[in-house]
Amino acid sequence: MNLIILGPPGAGKGTQAKIIAEKLDVAHISTGDLLRDELKKDTETSARIKEIMNSGGLVSDEIVVELLEKRVKDEKNGFILDGFPRNLEQAEILDEKGFDIDAAIALDVMDETIVERISGRLFCQSCCAVFHAKYHKPKKENICDVCGAALTQRSDDNAEVVEKRLNVYHELTEPIIVHYAEKGVLTAVDGSGNVEDITNAILSAISKAAE
Ligand code: AMP
Repeated sequence: MNLIILGPPGAGKGTQAKIIAEKLDVAHISTGDLLRDELKKDTETSARIKEIMNSGGLVSDEIVVELLEKRVKDEKNGFILDGFPRNLEQAEILDEKGFDIDAAIALDVMDETIVERISGRLFCQSCCAVFHAKYHKPKKENICDVCGAALTQRSDDNAEVVEKRLNVYHELTEPIIVHYAEKGVLTAVDGSGNVEDITNAILSAISKAAE
């Protein structure tokens, strides 16, 4: 089963994609995580990627698609894409490459809520787990529950960059929602409640799509 989770930055795509991936035994593929892995390499391309990510813009389709293809090729059981596609061109590339999407979930969260969520977000650079200073506290302050590494704030999770990321989302990513609605695979889910209720709403949308 191939799934897509859409929504603005901080909507909870990563949190939900991870849970859904475990429940349905599909791969959780986050292009943001793939790009952050690239940043650990010291190359000219990684320096360029870092500059774009820190400014809140989109990395080139060519780079992201190459990383995605490498990651997806061994996945036999399907996947849930988190952070891809980010514009119509990327959605069309998925279609052209023959990836059939069974269900696309669009998480709906208001811009004001996003800013509050993102400003408290804590990220593990080692295993990519995500926590929140208020809503999803780690057991030990600033230490990852999963792998024990130190938690930090992402360098693009500050008020100025979040505003730019939200603009990019409304301008370039939102039109994708129509793309998947026209294909008949889209369900919008309210992303403002608690994690468990949102997971249940997503699972029910996916099972309806699979009928
Ligand atoms: P995320 O972890 O999904 O919030 O992504 C963090 C940043 O990585 C974004 O603000 C973009 O700069 C970059 N990025 C992630 N996915 C994509 C994509 N599909 N296309 C272009 N840039 C991306």
